[in-house]
This record gives sequence, C-alpha cells and structure tokens, in this order.
Amino acid sequence: MKNVVIFGAPGAGKGTQSDKIIAKYGFKHFSTGDILRKQIAEGTELGKTAKKFMDEGKLVTDDLIINMIDNELEAVKDASGVIFDGFPRTYAQAEALKVLLNKRGTDVSVMLNIHVDDEELIARLINRGKTSGRSDDNLETIQKRLVTYKEQTTPVIDFYKKEGSCVDINGVGELDTIFADICKAIDSSK
Ligand code: ADP
Repeated sequence: MKNVVIFGAPGAGKGTQSDKIIAKYGFKHFSTGDILRKQIAEGTELGKTAKKFMDEGKLVTDDLIINMIDNELEAVKDASGVIFDGFPRTYAQAEALKVLLNKRGTDVSVMLNIHVDDEELIARLINRGKTSGRSDDNLETIQKRLVTYKEQTTPVIDFYKKEGSCVDINGVGELDTIFADICKAIDSSK
C-alpha cells in the first residue's frame, strides 16, 4: 500500500495533481479540506466550529483534525494507495499520522513537496475564487492562509526530511511535466 502525502501552499496545485494521480494509480483521495467542507454543508457541530477557523484563514485545531482522521482512515483501509491532501498541516499532525498508519501496519511512502512562489500562488487562488464558490478564496483570506502556511505548516517539511521521504517538486510549468516528476517520485518510493 502506498501512502502519498501531497504537500504545498494553498494554490500549489495539490488538488489538480491529486486528480491526475487518482486517474493513473487508482488511489483513494483523502482531503481534510473536502471532509471539513462536507461537515459544514451537513451543518454538524464540527462543521460549525471548523468554518470559523477556515473563514479566518486559520487552521482548525489539531485535536479536532486528528480525531476526525482516525475515523476517516477506516474508509480507505483497503485501498491500494491513499493520497493525503491538505494533511498533515502541522508537525503534531505529521506525528499523529505516523502513529495512526503504524497502528495499521503501514507508513508514509513519499511526501511530495510542491514549490510555487507567492506571487503565482495568489494569482492562482484569486482566479480560482471566481468560480470555486469558496468563502476563503478572497485576497484578504488568501494572504492570511499563506502566513498560516509559513508559520504552522512548513515545519512538516522537516518532519519528512528526517523520515527520509521528502521529495521536492517544482510546481510551476506545464501540468504534465509536473505530473511526470510526481510519477517518478511515487514509482521510486517504498
Ligand atoms: P487550501 O490548501 O487551498 O487552503 P484546503 O481545502 O486544503 O485548501 O483547506 C481549506 C481550509 O480548511 C484551511 O485553510 C484550514 O482552515 C482547514 N483545514 C484543512 N485541512 C486542515 C488540517 N489538516 N488541519 C487544520 N485545518 C485544516
């Protein structure tokens, strides 16, 4: 079983490249952002709490996310592979994911660290905001999300560097070129 963490700032192309990975490898998609948006649409308590953080460009707290993950992992336990998208987003979440996967006899195979410069990220997200209908795709919240990413999420890179599973991917250029680099990293992972 391959467990792929797709990592990068908001707007780095994680969702787009995840779709291509799913089409080629048949992996299951595990997106904490999608899971949270579903909770919001269903009006659950978790959804109500999460929405406040999300609309401010902040992270939902680790305890809420980690509890949610444990349940959701059951749904993908028989998959040939899983893509973790938008998770882990803090060092504590990376540690928790390792524990939860180890408990199931598996581990992260590769972490794809997708690089895109800030100017390009902001342009992409503003463009996406025209059609996504997402309340967090506006300039003010986008800028907050990028600050949150730098402060709270980039330490995750160190976690996977230490684990030896971080692979750097250039996220600017042709979609297919980026995807080819991603496939190379997945194919040569454990
Ligand atoms: P993006 O990567 O484009 O910002 P996501 O859909 O992954 O979009 O996440 C949207 C929002 O959901 C985040 O800004 C954050 O508030 C919340 N969120 C998603 N995943 C997590 C997570 N693993 N931990 C904490 N908050 C999360």
